[in-house]
Amino acid sequence: MTHSPLLIVISGPGGVGKSTVVDALIERYPELWLSRSWTTRERRPSESEDAYVFVTTEQFEDRLARSGFLEYAGFLGNYYGTPTLEPPQGRDVILEIDVQGARQVIKDDPDALLIFLKAPDAAEQQARLRRRGDPEEKVAQRLAKAAEEADAGIELGATVIINHDINETVEAMWATIEKARAARGQNGL
Ligand code: 5GP
Repeated sequence: MTHSPLLIVISGPGGVGKSTVVDALIERYPELWLSRSWTTRERRPSESEDAYVFVTTEQFEDRLARSGFLEYAGFLGNYYGTPTLEPPQGRDVILEIDVQGARQVIKDDPDALLIFLKAPDAAEQQARLRRRGDPEEKVAQRLAKAAEEADAGIELGATVIINHDINETVEAMWATIEKARAARGQNGL
């Protein structure tokens, strides 16, 4: 039986471990399909070439002008966007996006499932942000933004998960996804 894909938005402030957790989730549950975002940010030396589709501002704006993004946001001087989606048949879709993007998606699609990650404590979050090797000025900007966005999950009606331990977080996310699927089934979606 085919079903319309569930749109699962994983969001949260910087430094909460979103991409690590999402990579582990996808590896454990390959039936989920991860959308690859476009960004105008430069690739970090530590980052794999397919972490994003790395593009110029011109390429991004060109796609934007052709309505080629499901959502996008400006984040600390760069664009990030989810290209319009073509998930393989029957697979639920994961978007790993910032808080502004999550707001947009939820507004456009109230049936989307929003999971919001929080860091167990500020020290760990700061350490994560610093480990990426960004210049100190960028780290300071990211820290300020993360503090601003810490509680947005509640305002957005998200399922909030505190990322104490990667395995527990992945399992809590999976349980949330299964619950959302079951609820959709009951609603005849
Ligand atoms: P980073 O530069 O650390 O890779 O990402 C900065 C922020 O942009 C993170 O919060 C990340 O989740 C978010 N992000 C990544 N891809 C997208 C996207 O397609 N759309 C939006 N709105 N945010 C994204």
